[in-house]
Amino acid sequence: MHTNSSDIPLSFAQLALEEALQAAIAKLGFTQPTPVQQQAIPPALAGKDLLVSAETGSGKTAAFLLPTFQNLLNKPTSLFGTRALILTPTRELASQIFQQCLQLAEFTDIKIGLITGGEDFKQQQGVLRRNADIIIATPGRLLEQIKQHSSDFTHLEVLVLDEADRMLDMGFSDDVLNIAGRCNPERQTLLFSATLTHYGVIKIADKVLKQHQVIALNTLHDGHSNIEQQIVLADDNDHKQRLLAWLLLNDSYDKALVFTNTRNKAIELESPLRNQNLRIGVLHGEMEHYERKRIMNLFREGIITILVSTDLAARGLDVKGINLVVNFDVPRNGIDYIHRIGRTGRADEQGVAIALVKSTEWNLMSGIQRFLKQAFIRRTIKELAGSYQGPKKIKSSGKAAGAKKKKEEDKKKPAEKIKIRHRDQKNIGKRRVPSAKPDTEAG
Ligand code: ADP
Ligand code: MG
Repeated sequence: MHTNSSDIPLSFAQLALEEALQAAIAKLGFTQPTPVQQQAIPPALAGKDLLVSAETGSGKTAAFLLPTFQNLLNKPTSLFGTRALILTPTRELASQIFQQCLQLAEFTDIKIGLITGGEDFKQQQGVLRRNADIIIATPGRLLEQIKQHSSDFTHLEVLVLDEADRMLDMGFSDDVLNIAGRCNPERQTLLFSATLTHYGVIKIADKVLKQHQVIALNTLHDGHSNIEQQIVLADDNDHKQRLLAWLLLNDSYDKALVFTNTRNKAIELESPLRNQNLRIGVLHGEMEHYERKRIMNLFREGIITILVSTDLAARGLDVKGINLVVNFDVPRNGIDYIHRIGRTGRADEQGVAIALVKSTEWNLMSGIQRFLKQAFIRRTIKELAGSYQGPKKIKSSGKAAGAKKKKEEDKKKPAEKIKIRHRDQKNIGKRRVPSAKPDTEAG
């Protein structure tokens, strides 16, 4: 699985946690932080917002509890109200987290409350009124309590969404957003999910997280992801245009979103697609506000079914019925990729994301797959098969792979085997701001 040889593992001592926490860790018999704890605890201690994916049983609970405890202990407060809120989908999970909380907080005076359905409402009201420092709750019951004015999250310091993908699958999306909307907007938010390629998780992340760091630790394909990700190889831009038209004419979808990396490319796609009688609109950052709004409304109402857009114009886009995303250009990094494919429909729907990849984009696409720990499905459109078949197996000699025009007849193979290289993952994830800004907001 995932070895982390480029990073020296941190010990609990190096995380510089309070003695009271170290003592609890020792009592629990934890000798070394798990990988998710090693990666999440330092940025969480620094107050950063995090979007974390890691598999079940990997130690996520302590990964958010320890930095949260530490930060609460670091800054005593005289303000009333809950200081940290942990939302989790089920009573069972809430009660498990509660148990771990009690154990890890044993040598501190942090007060912890549990608010879940099926327990006495009045008693829980008391818990909220007595100002537990930390509340662990399921969203439905907590919202009922909030409506009875039993709680105050205006000074909240940390919001944790645990098992976010499951919460959304269980239909808690609106409740979670409602609760987050009542929390101190300055808070730190830590979002944990089994997968990052889940419809809805990115939409929630957009809404509840500030500028955040992404930590992807799981091998995906864990059955949770409901976006099928495909790669179609292309020779050049013209070939891409023909592939795109073919996909839009032949694949089934309700609404499709096509991403380009630049405005000009978005604009260039308009007439060839329209000539195929596709109902298409174009969106980019240089358009007047009213014009953007007009196009968005046409798309929302289904009068146009295809929207070609740059990243900038699509940011925050939330339209029902998008179940096909085509990356005409490979996005510049893994984060942009996740944001793009996350533009898809509702939490319980299936979607397809297709990237058109030419030779110069292959490395970038491989990096994104490594970042997501996922190998995409290689798809060939028979009618439009091109000559580019992916890179030659390169034996790592110092020679530059310069002879790229040479046409090689590689046997067809499944998508490149994914090697998980931690360094790449970090680099790919971190480049939030591209060095060139092809579609910046005008004013
Ligand atoms: P997750 O939320 O990722 O599914 P948990 O936080 O519930 O996983 O942890 C799974 C189990 O691993 C728990 O029993 C927990 O006590 C244990 N655990 C957590 N961190 C460590 C550690 N650093 N060393 C040993 N065991 C740990
Ligand atoms: Mg958990």
